[in-house]
Amino acid sequence: MNSERKFFFKKSNYKNLPEYLFLFLSVAIPLIIAQFLLEKPQNRYIHIENFRYGKDPSAIYCNRGDTLHITFSSRDTGHSFFLQEFDIDAKIGPGNNQFLKFKASDPQVEPVIEDTLVLIAQHPGILNYFISKSNFRCHVWCGPMHAFEHGKLIIGPNNLLLSGLGFLFGLFGIGIKRFKNGERFFAETKIDTEENAVDILERFPWLRTLIKKSWFQPLIIAVAGLILYIVLLTTIFGTQMSGRNLGVMLIWTVWLFLVISIFTPWGGRIWCLACPLPAAGEFIQRGAITRVRIGSTMGYRNKFFGLNKEWPEKLKNGWPRLFFFLLTGTLSTTFVANPRATGIAILVLIIVSTVMALVWKLRSFCQYICPINTFLSLYGKMGKLALRKSDPQTCAKCKPVFCQKGSNGGWACPYGLNVNEIDTNFDCGMCTECIRSCHYNNVTFKWRNFGSETQIRDTSMAWASMALFVVVCAYTILYLGHWAPIRDYVNILDKANYGLFAIYTVVLWSSALLFFPIVMLGISALSKKIAAIPENTFHILKSLSAALLPLGLFIWLAFIIQMLFTNISFVGQSLSDPFGWGWNLLGLAGTPWVQLLPRFIPWMQVLAVLTGFIYSFRNLRHVLQNITQKRQQAFSGLIPMAVFLWLISSVFIWFYAN
Ligand code: SF4
Ligand code: SF4
Repeated sequence: MNSERKFFFKKSNYKNLPEYLFLFLSVAIPLIIAQFLLEKPQNRYIHIENFRYGKDPSAIYCNRGDTLHITFSSRDTGHSFFLQEFDIDAKIGPGNNQFLKFKASDPQVEPVIEDTLVLIAQHPGILNYFISKSNFRCHVWCGPMHAFEHGKLIIGPNNLLLSGLGFLFGLFGIGIKRFKNGERFFAETKIDTEENAVDILERFPWLRTLIKKSWFQPLIIAVAGLILYIVLLTTIFGTQMSGRNLGVMLIWTVWLFLVISIFTPWGGRIWCLACPLPAAGEFIQRGAITRVRIGSTMGYRNKFFGLNKEWPEKLKNGWPRLFFFLLTGTLSTTFVANPRATGIAILVLIIVSTVMALVWKLRSFCQYICPINTFLSLYGKMGKLALRKSDPQTCAKCKPVFCQKGSNGGWACPYGLNVNEIDTNFDCGMCTECIRSCHYNNVTFKWRNFGSETQIRDTSMAWASMALFVVVCAYTILYLGHWAPIRDYVNILDKANYGLFAIYTVVLWSSALLFFPIVMLGISALSKKIAAIPENTFHILKSLSAALLPLGLFIWLAFIIQMLFTNISFVGQSLSDPFGWGWNLLGLAGTPWVQLLPRFIPWMQVLAVLTGFIYSFRNLRHVLQNITQKRQQAFSGLIPMAVFLWLISSVFIWFYAN
């Protein structure tokens, strides 16, 4: 056997062969059984009633090869049955059971009038075996919540669902076995240590030279600020039809996708480097944009303008911003469906951050109020990029503490941090100021392993982790689910359901702050009991909440993938006609609505859930080892949370695949 083959057939690989076989069988057995249980193709007759904002029935279940005979009616106004995977866009009017059948791919083709839509439930070629779920939507603007009018077509056997659940079961089994034996799980790397992280600024010295320029951050903020200015103009003065409004598309589709899928997992809190929201306040507070003013304010070596008051001690935690995050999350449907509401919310954030900069010192708004920061600070802990000291000895000997107190090269840390003490991405806004202010060039960016922070410092952090999880569950059900009656609970726009909205608000807030924490407390109590862990239950709860972070982030990812991929062509259209005033700047204004890879969206979502599960499962073991050093105790203690992660991942796989 040559050396290359030896590399691939290492002894450890043979050792793991039974596990791989178990994983393979977990997927293969249900898949094979399902193919044998497949019924013969049959005719199915379905009538779909369309209404603001849903379809009844909203879920069609059939088998591969079935012939569907679908008729339509409308309860209120014009709607459509848009099913891109089958190239169908059936336009339905009220009081008329006939419909106009367009080709979804080319709306210019003359439509045909029909009274029954006939389609065979199968996908072309090999896709027939892989694609089970399609979403049918409405492509006639029928009101402010039109974008959420959809249903689903499930073609059995649902191979994605079976293989997703099978894979999850296999992973769970292997994980439990490995944990029992004190072995590492998949994707195992060094956690809570950055000793193998790459020092980016040492490797790329030109990057340090660039960051050291006093215009570095202002320039990035200026670019982001210009985009934000366009968002404000279009949301406030442009069309109030969300899908045609550039501002809404840029914020709720593009920016949210970038923050969730790229900035945070790769860059930690790198968005804060570019964020224009606190810029005006900060520039006024500093009395400069690029210049560093030397002076003495509140013990800092820079001259600040304003009252520079200390933020109240009792509020120096994550609770205020968690409150504002939940408030924003509660109103999210209104923001998405009403462009002007988005614009006004952004203006409010800018005004509040500016006023706060004049009253309280440094970036009090970012530290304690910013709702976005609830997401960024916690999930930023998963990020690969981290701002850290280069050499601990240099920091230990540093008396002037330039990073925290400022220097002639850079301003005092806007978040009040001493780089020597930073061991988490939670607090640092990655503004790069300390890279400029440190006279010893001892501040750097490090590139570390994904998801390698598991420390939860205080109660507000633990609660934020649970609240973020509850909010993404709520969004998934509200926006991606096919249950129209649930969406009525957030419709305070055209239906003015204020009573239902009050119920929704109470349910969301109590789930985030009370019920879900109670479930987690129960899990912690169970861990304590079965493993006889001496730590108190509340401490175990705080630690266990860290295991929610990777799965939570990947569920956010699964959520935003569908939002972006479904609406991607509206981004192009609204770039061409930003205000919806009939412009056609890029020639894209009249392009047909095309979703990006609609057949594969459920696959990507299931993959995201599986990946999140792997990282959460991996971190769970580490969390338990931090609580107790005894292997058997750690193993017994992790079982309740492991089962919980498995169950919750199963529910999400079921949701996305089915
Ligand atoms: S904390 Fe909020 S306002 Fe401050 S920079 Fe980050 S996202 Fe922007
Ligand atoms: S530690 Fe450095 S990069 Fe982080 S917020 Fe403070 S000055 Fe900015």
